Amino acid sequence: MKSLFSSELFKLAFLSIIGLLVGYQWHNVWLGLSVVLVLYILTLLYYYRRYHAWLLGGGRDKKPFTNMFWATNIDQTLRLLNDLRDEKRLLEADVEYFKESFQALESAVVLVDRRGRIDWCNLAAKQLLGIELERDRGQLLMNLIRAPEMAQYLESQTFETALEIVSPKTADMRLEIQAAVFRQDFKLIFARNISDIHKLETMRRDFVANVSHELRTPLTVITGYLDTLSDHTDSLPDMWGKAIGQMLDQSHRMDSMVEDLIWLSRLESLPATDEDIEAMPLEGILTSVVSDARLSAEGSRIDLEMDMRSFEGLSIELAMPIQIRGNYAELRSAFGNLVQNAVKYSGADGDVSVHCYRYRDSVVVMVADTGEGIDPIHIPRLTERFYRADSSRTSTTGGTGLGLAIVKHVLARHDAELEITSKLGKGSKFSCVFPLSCLKVAKKTAIKRIV
Ligand code: ADP
Repeated sequence: MKSLFSSELFKLAFLSIIGLLVGYQWHNVWLGLSVVLVLYILTLLYYYRRYHAWLLGGGRDKKPFTNMFWATNIDQTLRLLNDLRDEKRLLEADVEYFKESFQALESAVVLVDRRGRIDWCNLAAKQLLGIELERDRGQLLMNLIRAPEMAQYLESQTFETALEIVSPKTADMRLEIQAAVFRQDFKLIFARNISDIHKLETMRRDFVANVSHELRTPLTVITGYLDTLSDHTDSLPDMWGKAIGQMLDQSHRMDSMVEDLIWLSRLESLPATDEDIEAMPLEGILTSVVSDARLSAEGSRIDLEMDMRSFEGLSIELAMPIQIRGNYAELRSAFGNLVQNAVKYSGADGDVSVHCYRYRDSVVVMVADTGEGIDPIHIPRLTERFYRADSSRTSTTGGTGLGLAIVKHVLARHDAELEITSKLGKGSKFSCVFPLSCLKVAKKTAIKRIV
């Protein structure tokens, strides 16, 4: 290229000399030089025009030049164009490959741009979400899927967990929605049909709830008779006295289990509604839970400590005494379960303390005990139904194995989480971590100005 450029320069110099010589003949060297230079520029413009026209034709026409300099330029442009065409073909093949693989999915896939408009979707989107690519491309997704919880989910930008919605296509189809962000604010949305799983889950829940309800009546009868019999053990042989005592203990335990199962299935099946939410003093509810536990705790020392100073300096003004917004019965059962467990598992002379404080953007209710503690391998599974860290201990404590499952469900319904830390031989801490938004904010008192 460099030599081509030099030869072109050489050509220009040669033509200039000829121009000068001709000018000398005309007795005006500048005129001769100017004529040659103008002719040279005109030729360049002519070549440029043809080159431009050839480029506009996509470089597909016959080469327009025989001139070395321009012909070489054209060859190089052609080579570049061909490389670009090959790359484009490969990219198109890749895009086609991914589109085909998305088309083969049974789940719906929808690509949404940063303004929330549909960019692309696969065939399954029509069946599951009622979205058709040709008809709906460029439409706002939320205009087609009118589910407020889906709008909230997409706006929240936190997609670690999936969302369950009713399909906008048909009311008996349940969908699991999972979104992911790509290319800053573009969203990839997957929708999976989970109607079968949902049906099975409902059947399981109904079955447990029905069985528990059915068991309630015979159990009440059995417990009633055993209660009566236990009052008359004096007239029975010794063997029967012990047996009746044991039967009574077990029937009480079964009774609590049935109650817990019914409570748990209620928590699972009934959606958390705003009607059941009220503001209540946090200290009041904890005090009543602690006094209940004191009755059943022989020897255990139970303290309640509210750390009010941790709430100072908040940018929001809280209603005093600190009020929590939630379902009274549910929160009481959750705190009650934790305190009862602490008493049960901390032995006769153990200490139990209930703390309430603010930590960063959350309010923590922590129940701590100085009991046996829990081996860390059990901690991730403690909130599963009937999971026991130490089954031998449970037979003496008479637990139902459902307490922590209830706590977990209640907290989830209050946007809160359960955190468990424990050391074997040292004791355990069960913390209910509520978002600050759970607290009631004080009403602003209007200040009247007297002018
Ligand atoms: P349970 O009715 O058996 O107490 P929970 O669901 O309340 O059932 O608790 C599950 C298991 O977690 C218990 O069986 C026990 O092994 C363990 N656990 C719960 N709380 C404590 C605690 N404070 N200290 C030690 N272990 C505990």
